[in-house]
Amino acid sequence: MSRRNIFWVLIGLFFVLLPPSPTQAQPLPIHTVFPGDTWDALAWRYGLDAAALQAANPHPNPLRQPAIGGTITLPTPPPTNRPGQMSRTFGSLLEFSLRTGQPLYPLARDNDLLDPMWPTFYRPLAAAAGDTFPRDLPVGVSRLELSHLAAQPGQGLGVRGQVMHDGLSALWFDAAAFNLRVEEDRFVAVIGTGAFYRPGDWPLTVAMTGAPLWSQPWRMSPGTWEFQDLTLTGAAAAITAEQIAEERERLFTLWNQATPTVYWQEPFRLPITDYLRITALYGVRRSYNGGPYRSYHEGVDFSAYGGTPVYAAAAGQVVVAEMLTVRGGTVIIDHGLGIYSGVYHLSDVMAQVGQMVAPGDPVGAVGTTGLSTGNHLHWDLLVAGTWVNGLAWYEQNVACWLLAGLGRPCS
Ligand SMILES: [Zn+2]
Repeated sequence: MSRRNIFWVLIGLFFVLLPPSPTQAQPLPIHTVFPGDTWDALAWRYGLDAAALQAANPHPNPLRQPAIGGTITLPTPPPTNRPGQMSRTFGSLLEFSLRTGQPLYPLARDNDLLDPMWPTFYRPLAAAAGDTFPRDLPVGVSRLELSHLAAQPGQGLGVRGQVMHDGLSALWFDAAAFNLRVEEDRFVAVIGTGAFYRPGDWPLTVAMTGAPLWSQPWRMSPGTWEFQDLTLTGAAAAITAEQIAEERERLFTLWNQATPTVYWQEPFRLPITDYLRITALYGVRRSYNGGPYRSYHEGVDFSAYGGTPVYAAAAGQVVVAEMLTVRGGTVIIDHGLGIYSGVYHLSDVMAQVGQMVAPGDPVGAVGTTGLSTGNHLHWDLLVAGTWVNGLAWYEQNVACWLLAGLGRPCS
């Protein structure tokens, strides 16, 4: 055999010895986790055993449900992707049978209940009904949606959904309570995550009166932030830590209140249209006069000429309109549901406390009053007592997403 032939034989052998392509490193199917995608719901949907599903996605705590916004690996190419309904009922299998239109006895058999009259103790029951995928949701909640599948620091987070019974009493993310509004069978809830929020999977918890708490982890992704060193001189440097704390304390007594009325009816706007550039984003870690980076920028800075008009970002009621020591000329608007926007360092305050404003109403003029080093507008946004990124709120339009949750138009 010539060298050339040996070469081709070797090339041929190489292909013969390769495994046939279908078994070749096929990526395992991945499922992105939504609210209610618990081990039980996913096992039922994909026709798998819940224990096998957990074994493919090991976690030190086997009682922990998959994190919303994360992904889980399905152990084999799943044989089914079957629609269905799942519920933890208030009463019995009978209620679930009536709701899903499935006959009682086959339903009991499919859910491993010896008798349809046995109490179900809120365990998840499944039925092959409807054309949606089964979600293991809180007792009495038929729909649960999140504004962000994975949460991030510095965001206004929204939850919306539908209830089957009265009694939705509270929602929490980790230890913080959402501001909640229920209108007939619909509900919306908001919360803010600060710029220092630690990444991880933290529980989203829902409480219905008289039912066990429902909880599923919700993924908090890490944030990325810039660092900024500032040097304060003159009058700005003379402002003391006590004055800063005092003003902050006074404002938080307002910001921690939630007006139940939702005032906005259209997307939020920016409070200024005629600016030079954005000079500081929300969340920038800050050091003053060489000190530690222990604070972050609580709003967005727009540099602009002195006297440039400043507008209401959305409809609401003016709750502060005065000259403050640190923030200078200040207008704060309550938009309802614990959402407040503020504009600061104004040379001129053109609003009165108690006044109702429409989006785009002029409320002041750009200046450099208070703790400020030049003409600029500092704009902040608080959701449920926490500063969030106003630009993200504006771009992601969570405001309209929430209104849609109450069945209202937003334009
Ligand atoms: Zn600022």
